[in-house]
Amino acid sequence: MPAIDLLIRGGTAVLPSGERKIALAVDQGKVVGHAETEAKNVVEATGLLVLPGAVDAHVHYNEPGREDWEGWKTGSRASRAGGATSVVEMPLNALPPTLDADTFQKKRAVAEKKSCLDFALWGGITPINLRQLEELGRAGAIGFKAFMIDSGTSDFPGSDPVTLRQGMMVAAKLGLPVSVHAESPDSIRRRTEEIRKKGGTSVRDYLSSRPIETELEAIRLVCELAGETRCRIHIVHVSCPEGIEEIQKARQRGVDVTAETCPHYLVLTDEDMVRLGPPAKCAPPLRSASACEGLLQKIREGKVDTIGSDHSPAPGSMKTDPDFFKVWGGIAGCQHLVPLLFSAGLSPVEIARLTAENPARRLGLYPRKGSLEIGSDADFILVRPGVTEEVRVQDLLTTHPITPYLGMKLPARIEQVAVRGSLQPVAGKFLSPSSST
Ligand SMILES: [Zn+2]
Repeated sequence: MPAIDLLIRGGTAVLPSGERKIALAVDQGKVVGHAETEAKNVVEATGLLVLPGAVDAHVHYNEPGREDWEGWKTGSRASRAGGATSVVEMPLNALPPTLDADTFQKKRAVAEKKSCLDFALWGGITPINLRQLEELGRAGAIGFKAFMIDSGTSDFPGSDPVTLRQGMMVAAKLGLPVSVHAESPDSIRRRTEEIRKKGGTSVRDYLSSRPIETELEAIRLVCELAGETRCRIHIVHVSCPEGIEEIQKARQRGVDVTAETCPHYLVLTDEDMVRLGPPAKCAPPLRSASACEGLLQKIREGKVDTIGSDHSPAPGSMKTDPDFFKVWGGIAGCQHLVPLLFSAGLSPVEIARLTAENPARRLGLYPRKGSLEIGSDADFILVRPGVTEEVRVQDLLTTHPITPYLGMKLPARIEQVAVRGSLQPVAGKFLSPSSST
């Protein structure tokens, strides 16, 4: 038998069934076996975990148009360092946003030139592009993203319930999922107005303008709409265990809904937002330490489906306003995605399931992506557990050296990343909903 391209041996592979001491045999970009065999290149992985590369279904790289915020080159490099081998990029914060086939193709072209990770693209649902959803589907959108609240940029308006229902009907017809930012605009606006009238500008004021009820209200509403329209939905960045419970209730009623959370809701709290200020601003906001613990418990119970970074960078100038309400909301964290989850205490099997297998399944990319099974793309990471790795500003690969994790000591280090069997950065390939094989 001729030698295969690459053999990873001596490591511990993290499979859905558990951790197993097997080799990973790779040829022509695919996993071709789990036993040792003759190979042109051999990587000794003793002491290392071999995990499927993360399919980070929630990144904002802002290009074209706002590459001064991030860009595909820096963003994908940072994501790669954080353990991702595929990313799914959000339709907003690039300019123009991804609201029709033309803007979709423009973004795809930029990404094909600059991404070092395989990628798929979300299209947007907004009140101004309902007629373009079908063409977005035909162009290869992996699904759609909608905001129930103001998105933070005026070029991507939030969706009222009527828009949402119409968008979800089209998505259901196209067989595509809709990911939803669920926060209730009316109750947040009411609370914000009251706080602002009293001159509130602090982090604590911001926190009290968005209590968990405002998130739960929105989750309940969108689950109802999903039930009516029979649309598959994925609620992004759920910040609290009560949100996961609402989603569970809807699921028991037969609604096809899944839940994403993000590392920042697992390792940071509202007190960290007060301490760190602008780098830690996000929406929904960080919650209490007990909510953090509750969310981890939901993960252990298997009730959280996916974890995405929600990497949402912005230039320093948008992170300095003394009025916290005016600071750009978004945490830049893709570079530490997988190590942060070790820090949160998740097991390697949980990390593989939530960052790789489940997002790939939800988006129709499994088993080509998110798996170490024979026949899957050889997308994997080699992780050394049990180390102490400090997050340092000089190591950041993002355009702006802003992250809430500076100084944090992470208990795992990503030593190698392979995309389709290549341990060197490659040109990323476009993934469409029919990319599952
Ligand atoms: Zn986001």
